[in-house]
Amino acid sequence: MTVTQSTPEAMFIDGKAIEGASGKRIPVFDPSTEEVIAEIPDASASEIDRAIAAARRAFDHDGWPQTTAQERGRILFRIAEKLRAEAPQLAELESRNSGKPIVEAEYDVADAATKISGTVNPVPDNALSLSLKEPVGVAGQIIPWNYPLLMAAWKLAPALAAGCTCVLKPAEQTPLTALRLAGWLNELGVPPGVVNIVTGFGETGGARMVEHPHVDKIAFTGSAAVGKLIMKSAADTLKRVTLELGGKSPNIFFADADFEAAIDGALFGVFINQGEVCSAGSRVLVERSIYPKFVEAMTEKARNIKLGAPLDRETKMGPLVSREQCDRVCKYQQIGRSEAKVAIGGGQPAAFKRGYYVEPTIFYDVDNSARIAREEIFGPVATVIPFEDERDALKIANDTPFGLAAAVWSRDIYKALRMVKAIRAGIVWVNHMQPTYVEAPWGGYKQSGFGRELGIHGIDEYLETKQVHINLNEQPIGWY
Ligand code: NDP
Repeated sequence: MTVTQSTPEAMFIDGKAIEGASGKRIPVFDPSTEEVIAEIPDASASEIDRAIAAARRAFDHDGWPQTTAQERGRILFRIAEKLRAEAPQLAELESRNSGKPIVEAEYDVADAATKISGTVNPVPDNALSLSLKEPVGVAGQIIPWNYPLLMAAWKLAPALAAGCTCVLKPAEQTPLTALRLAGWLNELGVPPGVVNIVTGFGETGGARMVEHPHVDKIAFTGSAAVGKLIMKSAADTLKRVTLELGGKSPNIFFADADFEAAIDGALFGVFINQGEVCSAGSRVLVERSIYPKFVEAMTEKARNIKLGAPLDRETKMGPLVSREQCDRVCKYQQIGRSEAKVAIGGGQPAAFKRGYYVEPTIFYDVDNSARIAREEIFGPVATVIPFEDERDALKIANDTPFGLAAAVWSRDIYKALRMVKAIRAGIVWVNHMQPTYVEAPWGGYKQSGFGRELGIHGIDEYLETKQVHINLNEQPIGWY
């Protein structure tokens, strides 16, 4: 490990930059050079509590939930404009911190707007029944390292739009863009305590947020294993929980699909962002009649994927985020070598002396019961599985504990739509894979979690519904 000029970072609590009281700091790495580029405080329980107290006060006493939706909307638009103005610098920082190729980092900045309204309920009595939407309270938000700023935006924007206050914990590997954002919040008009950003480890700081009685809701994005821990722990205080977890998504290619587009779609589906994508199309299901030709074409095209430094604009695949993730993916490459045939890759590229690089890897003749087809690898590893017909494709597609995403490639619209309806997943693409819009819902079925992010669906997850019953009958109840 080389230490160069590492920048000490601070947390953001109650509108102020806060160093950790313990003085303990966590190194943050550039995964392409393995150099330490920053250090963040390891938040202690007292700092987590302080952030929660600030969010509680901002919610209960300082009037944030009572601000009008228009006022909150104006603040969100100011944040969005700032992010747009700073997009090149943020993309560079994100790219350096996460290993994401710079051309991909530039796509990740988004904004959100709010349209929250109640309803009038059609009660059959002489009464007016209204459903009002109200913010759920203090939201604890825990995010992973693969799309750090994007994930922060997906969490903060709907919570603020709804009138909640937030304590956000980025992953300890990739906190830098969220902290950069924090540094602008005061000047953009976010009142103290409304957004707090704490750094440190999930097992300590994150877990503290989940068990804390003054946090009303946990919004978590991360692995299914940690999602299960969070759900159990949140039960003690009966918190609202939304979980955006992992996947093992099928990318399904019928023989009648546009072949060139299909090969591109198979590669893009699984290798974008080094495969560190929750919705990665890591199970490539191919109809038997085109299977050999498909594997060959996919392999040929994968040879052109340029691995390199994240900030090089020609780079199509950067390093994985950390030593730990690199070791994990290498372990799966090894397991895959004993479970299936290797078309390309299967190890680490010899060309790099430093950095957490792994080869884009395609395993074929994979059985859907193999570990590489069942467990989320979260790296550039594709498992190609043949299928006989539509029925077989559907059976394999749904034979997974996960249900985040899927894609179907076919020119037969009837077949494609039959598949769309029968696949158990929160998002299904037809003749594409991965585009995501902030206006459309995102989230999983089965062990990929529950709750939806983005658009009005995402804001709903930060709202309670209050029923108001207004008696329109002037007579006494007359019961006694
Ligand atoms: P982890 O589940 O390991 O960590 C996610 C976050 O949870 C981190 O901030 C981590 O902190 C924190 N954390 C860890 N343990 C606990 C705990 N006991 N209590 C509270 N918080 C905790 O996931 P990764 O960061 O490794 O991210 C990869 C995973 O995220 C993959 O499974 C992927 O599929 C999923 N993901 C899902 C998405 C979706 O939309 N469905 C989108 C993106 C990723 P720290 O790491 O700092 O210790």
